[in-house]
Amino acid sequence: MDNKSDWNELDAEKQAASRLRRIFGKSLHVRHIDVGSCNACESEVLALSNPYYNFHRLGLFFTASPRQADVLLVTGAMTPTMKPILMETYEAMPKPRLVVAAGVCAIHGGVFANSRQFAGPVESVIPVDAFIPGCPPTPYALINGILAAVNGREGVTRDA
Ligand code: SF4
Repeated sequence: MDNKSDWNELDAEKQAASRLRRIFGKSLHVRHIDVGSCNACESEVLALSNPYYNFHRLGLFFTASPRQADVLLVTGAMTPTMKPILMETYEAMPKPRLVVAAGVCAIHGGVFANSRQFAGPVESVIPVDAFIPGCPPTPYALINGILAAVNGREGVTRDA
């Protein structure tokens, strides 16, 4: 840490982590769903739990079950096949629940927006609490977006 903005970011990160513990308990469980990705977003999502990014230090964990999930992290350009599966996954989550659309494909289709196999942005099916731009978004951007959802603010604009 060598400047004021680094300290401010660290402070904001700690505040967000503290807030999620107040709202959701000791930890936040994330269910990741790929609704039509090229798999590059998945590589970045996987990196969250490696020793370098180590998002567990913030009390964030992946869960395989939507019934145990607080956050639904969605990647990819949604296909017609995955549309009902996304809705079912969201409906299976207990309340309060948050949704994060990660990557431009989840936000607006990205390079697949004009494909006949693109069934629409994630927010056309379920409510989205935070948007994370990028193709793919970096692990730090993913952490920021998840914490932004917890803080009740949009991580980014849809146009990014
Ligand atoms: S946003 Fe980019 S990296 Fe992610 S699924 Fe779409 S094309 Fe792949």
